[in-house]
Amino acid sequence: MKGAISELIAPGGKVRLFVDQPLGEGARVSLSVSQAHYLLHVMRARKGDRASLFNGRDGEWLATIAEATPRDCTLACERKTQEQTNDEDLWLVFAPIKKTPADYLAQKATELGVSVLQPVITRRTIVHRVNAERMRANAIEAAEQSGRLTVPEIRAAIDLELLLNDWPRERNLLFCDEAGAPPIIEALRGASKGPWAVVIGPEGGFDPDERSMVRALASTVPVSLGKRILRADTAALAALAVWQAQCGKR
Ligand code: SAM
Repeated sequence: MKGAISELIAPGGKVRLFVDQPLGEGARVSLSVSQAHYLLHVMRARKGDRASLFNGRDGEWLATIAEATPRDCTLACERKTQEQTNDEDLWLVFAPIKKTPADYLAQKATELGVSVLQPVITRRTIVHRVNAERMRANAIEAAEQSGRLTVPEIRAAIDLELLLNDWPRERNLLFCDEAGAPPIIEALRGASKGPWAVVIGPEGGFDPDERSMVRALASTVPVSLGKRILRADTAALAALAVWQAQCGKR
């Protein structure tokens, strides 16, 4: 909406931008070329308009466009609008999938509050390459639109066995096992509040040895997501949504 100098409102709500720079009273923040393009040419913003900024550390700040040239835009922080809070300590461990579903997964897992996206290479993994930069761009956009104050960490892909050998004892592992397990709602009833990880296999599923390796960990909680075989990205979102409903911060 354009008119008098105002707080910028996008179709999905107020304009929020993630910036990897310190935020504080009067701090000046230079936007990236693509962010400047978005504000100036898509949102038709101009000097004096306001947008919200966050960096995952200093909370959310309302900031005013202090300088704008066709390619560059600098904002000055005016006041803090939200104190920094952290999302749940929740990892999503998933076998890499093709490009489009991977983008989709990064977006939706971010909306569903994951703190870490951990690609894992399993024996039946088909796609070995993970475009971490692309996943991060999708996660940042989803964090901006969903009102998060943090952006999940995207970790480098690791071999399943290596990940399990080094698995942190205190982290519960929600093992989505299509080969049979208690229903997820039952398994999460009265579940511990500590850190969790949702583990999803490749399109080809885990092989029997891998299944035994995961189930051998003391912190593993095997769950079923129902009688139908879900695609890996669907299974991940279903498990995250149920976990948030049952164990997420209120
Ligand atoms: N190839 C496997 C099969 O045909 O049996 C299906 C693998 S599925 C496409 C990919 C991953 O999603 C599985 O490894 C599992 O982690 C998860 N998944 C899919 N459906 C599930 C279900 N009903 N219960 C639990 N996990 C499920």
